[in-house]
Amino acid sequence: MISSINPATGTVVAEFDEHTDAQVERMLQGAVTAQKRWARQPIEVRAAVLTAVARVLRERKAEYARLITTEMGKPLAEAEAEIEKCAWTCDHYAQHGPGYLADMPVASNAESYVAYDPLGVVLAVMPWNYPFWQFIRFAAPALVAGNGAILKHANNVPQCALALQQALVDAGVPAGLMSTVLIASSRVKALIADARIAAVTLTGSTAVGKQVAAQAGSALKKQVLELGGSDPFIVLADADVAAAARTAVKARFGNCGQSCVSSKRFIVEDAVADAFVAAFVAHTRELVVGDPLDPRTTIGPMARPSLVADLDSQVQRSLAAGARLLTGGAARPGPGCYYEPTILDDVTPDMAAAIEETFGPAAAILRVGDADEAIALANATEFGLAAALWTGDLARARRLVRQIEAGAVFVNGQVVSDARLPFGGIKQSGYGRELGAAGAREFTNTKTVWIG
Ligand code: NAP
Repeated sequence: MISSINPATGTVVAEFDEHTDAQVERMLQGAVTAQKRWARQPIEVRAAVLTAVARVLRERKAEYARLITTEMGKPLAEAEAEIEKCAWTCDHYAQHGPGYLADMPVASNAESYVAYDPLGVVLAVMPWNYPFWQFIRFAAPALVAGNGAILKHANNVPQCALALQQALVDAGVPAGLMSTVLIASSRVKALIADARIAAVTLTGSTAVGKQVAAQAGSALKKQVLELGGSDPFIVLADADVAAAARTAVKARFGNCGQSCVSSKRFIVEDAVADAFVAAFVAHTRELVVGDPLDPRTTIGPMARPSLVADLDSQVQRSLAAGARLLTGGAARPGPGCYYEPTILDDVTPDMAAAIEETFGPAAAILRVGDADEAIALANATEFGLAAALWTGDLARARRLVRQIEAGAVFVNGQVVSDARLPFGGIKQSGYGRELGAAGAREFTNTKTVWIG
């Protein structure tokens, strides 16, 4: 049984039986048949269907936002913004997909060019934190490229998973091209091994990424892994400290801190550390924790009780090791998965809040003597997803950007995903890219054509 539980109240909203093996078999076969036809459609036809998906998402924004909020707890305004972003991304690939995937002439000793052919049916294993966005971010480029998709979504967002399938069907995506399978994660292995699955994409934790990578590797299948992170937010002495502190609150506490590219380690030069910390704490205390359906709420519950327990353990272990609590530091009593927005100061690199991924509303402040120490500390992590760098000297920023080990560096701004820009990590944060032109080509066969 797959249950949808409202994390603000702990009540069961809906329950679903898992799909049987026979049902999954029908979906797989249907996806293969539909994908073969879809791949033969002109790309302009596929792009037009994505435009229709964008329209359906916008028309149903209020309905889908409520679904997201009641299944995983983010405030309604953030859920609406998620749907808007999905629609915008579909529009982006409808408009730019044909260009990203156009034949690319290459000079050689004859007529030659690169063509981007679809790979087939891609298995997408997705997390709950942005239940619509995580799937659309993969699917918009993959579908415009001519692929099909089987979605195995996180088991706490089954209604979102089914709604995504319905939205695509209602927009005119051919029946069967994309199907949601409601299955336990233990059944993913068999799907990866199935010859009809051409490739796999996983957005999730590093631990699960390693398992999926091993399974896909042993079946010799292409994979994209978007995994965890412990992103640094570096504030140098010449930064606009007030702007950095305001942005830090959004970068850490948006989506209740449950974002892979949330800033998690705030690495601040001593010269401005007190000023930055004071402003960061003051803005954090302005956050309104509460019912995510209430429009005044700016931070809702975490998505599951186990996430609260994991985060609290990281906070308590860091405090026991000598970190200083500036605000928050505990789960909120009563029903719902609430955790007080928390800031820890004097965190050192050996503490849990610095080493582990903190997937919730807890910020770690690490004070450093100079910029070199800041960069070294930023890189002193097994992860490499994204980084934010704050400095008033852009020439220096361009030099430092190249020294930061991450899939993206944002200077003087919040790290966010953007349909126009490639997104993905290095090191234990995974490999492969979503979004941008790179995302459109990720699930394609880069085919060399030579005509003598
Ligand atoms: P998770 O446990 O790895 O789950 C992600 C997905 O994998 C879910 O659909 C889950 O299904 C499935 N899964 C779990 N165990 C599996 C297994 N053994 N084999 C195959 N599939 C399996 O991740 P989470 O804790 O829910 O999500 C948070 C993590 O995702 C964080 O580490 C975060 O950083 C990462 N994330 C990364 C990005 C990025 O773009 N880099 C974006 C968002 C989140 P069930 O729900 O059925 O267990």
